[in-house]
Amino acid sequence: MTQLENLCLWNNSLIAYRGKTMFLRDWVTSDICYVKDLYENNIFLPFHRICERVGHKPTRLFEYGAIRTAIASLFLKMNDNGIQAMKVMDYQKISTFKPRQFRKLMVDAYQTETIAVSFWKRKMGIEINKDIWQIASNASKEVRLRLLHWKITHNIYPTNIILYKMGIAESISCTHCTEETDYIEHFFYYCRKISKVWNLVEEAFFTACSTKKFMLMCGMPYLA
Ligand SMILES: [Zn+2]
Repeated sequence: MTQLENLCLWNNSLIAYRGKTMFLRDWVTSDICYVKDLYENNIFLPFHRICERVGHKPTRLFEYGAIRTAIASLFLKMNDNGIQAMKVMDYQKISTFKPRQFRKLMVDAYQTETIAVSFWKRKMGIEINKDIWQIASNASKEVRLRLLHWKITHNIYPTNIILYKMGIAESISCTHCTEETDYIEHFFYYCRKISKVWNLVEEAFFTACSTKKFMLMCGMPYLA
């Protein structure tokens, strides 16, 4: 952090979104000019704090996402593992690496935690580990189900909140009950229109969980 915190955010090729540098005038006039301006106690400022400083407008969330992605990618390139890998590369000839060793070195160096992990931890207190990522591929060969699982765990399922921002949905409210905001957990679980179905599913699931075959089928350990 220390070596990166004084980097200028704007028109800086190191801080680029989709290959392009950025310049956001109202952020600059609100005195957000350096990487350190986006942090407080080493924590990236949440969206509402940025809005307090810069003001709110329809494209603000997109801007916030773009900056955050650019910073994440900067840190990914420059984090300790990355620097460590570069050091290893400096004094060891690439030609001495076997392809598999080289790939492992690069994967270890650039592996980082996806934003979805902190999202679910913050929202539900759930720690998404490797086993949870793999549940869908262990449980089903159905590509669409796997894709759905992937979208939900990565929090990119197109709820009305996202569709409204895209100008596709008429409001951010749930299409089915029209009472609540269409958060991902509302759409899939809390909506009163769907909760009856889930009660039945839960009942069936817990009955089925008592069988060894079902647990093994889901790739989960069976505790007798
Ligand atoms: Zn609803």
